Amino acid sequence: MAIEEARMEVRDKLYIGGSWVAPSNAETLEVVNSATEEVIGTVPAGTPEDIDKAARAAAEAFPAWSATSADERAKTLLRVQEGLVARTPELATLIARELGMPFTLSNLIQVGLPVMNFYNAAQIVGEFKFEEEVGNSLVVREPVGVVGCITPWNYPLHQIALKVAFAMAAGCTVVVKPSEVTPLNAFVLADIFDEIGLPAGVFNLVTGTGPVVGEAIAAHPLVDMVSFTGSTRAGKRVMELASGSVKRVALELGGKSANVILEDADIQSAVPAGVAACYINSGQTCSALTRMLVPRSRLAEVEELVVKTAETYTPGDPFDAESRLGPLVSAVQRDRVRGYIRKGIEEGARLLTGGEEPPEGLEKGYFVRPTVFSDVRPDMTIAQEEIFGPVLSIIPYDTEDEAVEIANDTVYGLAGGVWAGEKAHAEAVARRLRAGQVEVNGGGFNPLAPFGGYKQSGIGREAGSFGLEEFLEVKAIQR
Ligand code: NDP
Repeated sequence: MAIEEARMEVRDKLYIGGSWVAPSNAETLEVVNSATEEVIGTVPAGTPEDIDKAARAAAEAFPAWSATSADERAKTLLRVQEGLVARTPELATLIARELGMPFTLSNLIQVGLPVMNFYNAAQIVGEFKFEEEVGNSLVVREPVGVVGCITPWNYPLHQIALKVAFAMAAGCTVVVKPSEVTPLNAFVLADIFDEIGLPAGVFNLVTGTGPVVGEAIAAHPLVDMVSFTGSTRAGKRVMELASGSVKRVALELGGKSANVILEDADIQSAVPAGVAACYINSGQTCSALTRMLVPRSRLAEVEELVVKTAETYTPGDPFDAESRLGPLVSAVQRDRVRGYIRKGIEEGARLLTGGEEPPEGLEKGYFVRPTVFSDVRPDMTIAQEEIFGPVLSIIPYDTEDEAVEIANDTVYGLAGGVWAGEKAHAEAVARRLRAGQVEVNGGGFNPLAPFGGYKQSGIGREAGSFGLEEFLEVKAIQR
């Protein structure tokens, strides 16, 4: 780890209109290594003035970029993909430091997914039918315009790629504001755009805080659409500001997803997979399956296996091969999660393992113990609110109808899981869940499947062909 820590990343320019330009003021934001609490870099704290410049550059670039052929745009995206592949070790190291995900996983997920997204966007746009005949109309799909992208810290480059690759594939130009907590990887992406000679203004990067730079994007009259991923609270604010100019809004927000284990499920498979689906990225995953719904008759058996599994998630240094659980991203996030653990105990849930105290020997860094509660009631805070940490809530139920009712009884609807003896049975229950993604008997993540939520988990879908359509307007030409 010492070698990785040695390098200080100082980024003092913003990428606007095809060049690295000085920000409008000298203030900077510090980036902290979540495992060591040391400052590892600084980035500009942008202002609304910087967003104005970036939005103008993107608007100027739009006519020419939107007129390029789909094949030309696909070729550009593949060059970005190659650039990401070439810089995978650097990016995986950077994200492991900024965010704290164990390095091996960071390599596979935090860089692997963006690589795949640029590739998928290129393939999909190459085959996409932009025109169709409906009676006497020619229906054409056109890029929506300038897209403002506001992204979070939990899968930082993946969230940027889902927006940027598909918006650019559609023919849109973009202004990106990454999370202030994990902004460094976005600069590497901008370096790649610069190196491949992307036309000026197609991709613009402005770092800064949400309330300043994020709000300036959402309110800017030259931004035609805002694509946001993050908390439901900030998403609501973005929507409010976007309404001023009736922008299109895509929101990918929080979740409190249920993993419904049915009476006849294979517990030996369902439980380890269920714990993994909750603890991935230290629980900082919007689609994490954080509520495990268990038939009361099998509660004791499930509890025993959950605890055994949870205790194999050894917290530790992201660069130590033995670590299965990295730190949380920041002190704020660690304190929020500890607060939820305290709340769970106060409200009467039964703590099976973990707890509020830092893991032994890991007092420095934003570590939280892998935690499991049982006898969680559906109305408890830890069953209703998104915790975003390694905290699993086991909720017992008596009938299948009750399980479905509990699964659907939150303001969210992002994801879910169902486990049953027969796949058909699990699928039937999956259809009853009000959520955008449901995995059945551990069905694997599909990067081409539409991703997004029902209810307060958001509006719209990312990834695959649905993710491309998100950035298209529809025009009917009658003839
Ligand atoms: P935020 O929603 O605040 O952050 C996400 C992005 O939105 C960041 O780029 C942030 O900027 C920006 N932002 C913040 N406020 C505004 C605003 N008023 N207008 C425009 N943009 C804004 O999430 P937090 O980092 O505060 O995390 C809080 C909780 O949100 C987590 O505990 C988790 O429950 C949830 N969350 C969900 C995510 C998901 O994938 N669905 C991702 C991240 C968080 P800035 O750079 O200043 O942070």
